Amino acid sequence: MTSSIPLWQDEPYDPRPPLEGQVRADVCVVGAGAGGLATARRLLDAGLSVVVLERAEVASGASGRNGGFFIAGAAPMYHDARRLWGRERAAAVHAATLAAQREMLEVAEAVGARSEFRVGGLLRLAVDEVEADDVRSNAAALAEDGFPGQMVGENDLPDPLARPGRAGLLFPHDGSVHPVRWLRALAGALQSRGTRVFEHSPVVGLPAADGDGVRVTTPAGVVRCDRAVVAMDGDLAALVPSARSVRPRRLTMLATAPLGRAVLPFPVYARHGHEYVHQTADGRIALGGFSDLDGDASWTARAEVSGPVQARLDRWLLEELRVDAPVTHRWAGVVGFAEDPLPRCGPVPGTDGRVLALGGYNGTGHVQAWVASRVVADLVVTGTSPAAGLYASVDA
Ligand SMILES: Cc1cc2nc3c(=O)[nH]c(=O)nc-3n(C[C@H](O)[C@H](O)[C@H](O)COP(=O)(O)OP(=O)(O)OC[C@H]3O[C@@H](n4cnc5c(N)ncnc54)[C@H](O)[C@@H]3O)c2cc1C
Repeated sequence: MTSSIPLWQDEPYDPRPPLEGQVRADVCVVGAGAGGLATARRLLDAGLSVVVLERAEVASGASGRNGGFFIAGAAPMYHDARRLWGRERAAAVHAATLAAQREMLEVAEAVGARSEFRVGGLLRLAVDEVEADDVRSNAAALAEDGFPGQMVGENDLPDPLARPGRAGLLFPHDGSVHPVRWLRALAGALQSRGTRVFEHSPVVGLPAADGDGVRVTTPAGVVRCDRAVVAMDGDLAALVPSARSVRPRRLTMLATAPLGRAVLPFPVYARHGHEYVHQTADGRIALGGFSDLDGDASWTARAEVSGPVQARLDRWLLEELRVDAPVTHRWAGVVGFAEDPLPRCGPVPGTDGRVLALGGYNGTGHVQAWVASRVVADLVVTGTSPAAGLYASVDA
């Protein structure tokens, strides 16, 4: 029997009660994924009182439906980011994500979730000679700007993936994470420090700024606050109309039963990052990809699996990894894509700086949301952020 629940969410969980009645806080954060919880933590550290409102449950969105990669950098490969955004901005974004990884590991340690992270390197695999040239250009650009990344020749690739003409680039700072256990631990730690987290509390409409602050409304309650932060990636434009450049897109995953043998020594993303695969601590294969095969159907806000993509993932398992273990979980998640492809963060136009938003990570939000949360929290607390120029503004 295959479950449509994401592997990471397939564990017992007792959700917090929904918001009922009126509460007051300095800041209301909408969305309890990686972006919302990271923002809530920074605001709490700055001494502000915070309420988090979540439509469903903590990490029920993309943050609990993803591949579980703990990966630095932006959505484009580093050399492509330099071409698209200029060398200075690409380097600043890359450095910010490396710093974010370090900070996330420290926070994970502090909240008792460090063991959910496995940091032992991540391989970018070139599946043919043309891509191998691209990987070498990527490695050269990283080296030129002083960032880690080590070429791996075809003979040193992990056994099932080694083929003539292939090559890899190993990032020592990357790895994998059990995203739901990590974020549930983070939410629990924030709550124990006084943050109020309400689950099954969907916010209805853009938080409204008026003379008295901001009003955030759910079906059974209201939060009155000085500022609201909307931290939704794929759903961002649904609540923040000016973020229309962030389009929802589904990505597809599967997981197998535990194999009882080691197949992959570290996570791998292949074919320009289209496919991503790793072996979990309990020996399962978690594999995602083929959004290009999903084509126009992938541009949807519905987290429904695609039959053809799942069938192609099954074939990839067999042909690339030689794994024929039963598939136990098949799921999809929705992320926000922007064409440039820069994440969005900052004030929402027309709200007098009282409502801010972040999202649009093009499928690489786990670490980038941590970076964007810094910009937004700085803006809330001080009105400026030294990292404000990294990403695009919400109405760009
Ligand atoms: C299949 C897949 C693979 C991926 N792989 C990776 C990867 O390996 N590494 C990586 O870095 N990134 C990956 N990503 C992307 C990454 O998961 C996301 O970019 C990131 O989790 C976004 O975090 P977020 O908090 O902004 O959004 P989300 O996690 O989507 O959180 C937004 C939250 O807002 C809630 N919400 C929505 N509407 C409302 C409302 N009206 N009121 C209240 N709450 C609301 C949602 O329920 C949700 O919990 C992947 C994504 C998918 C789907």
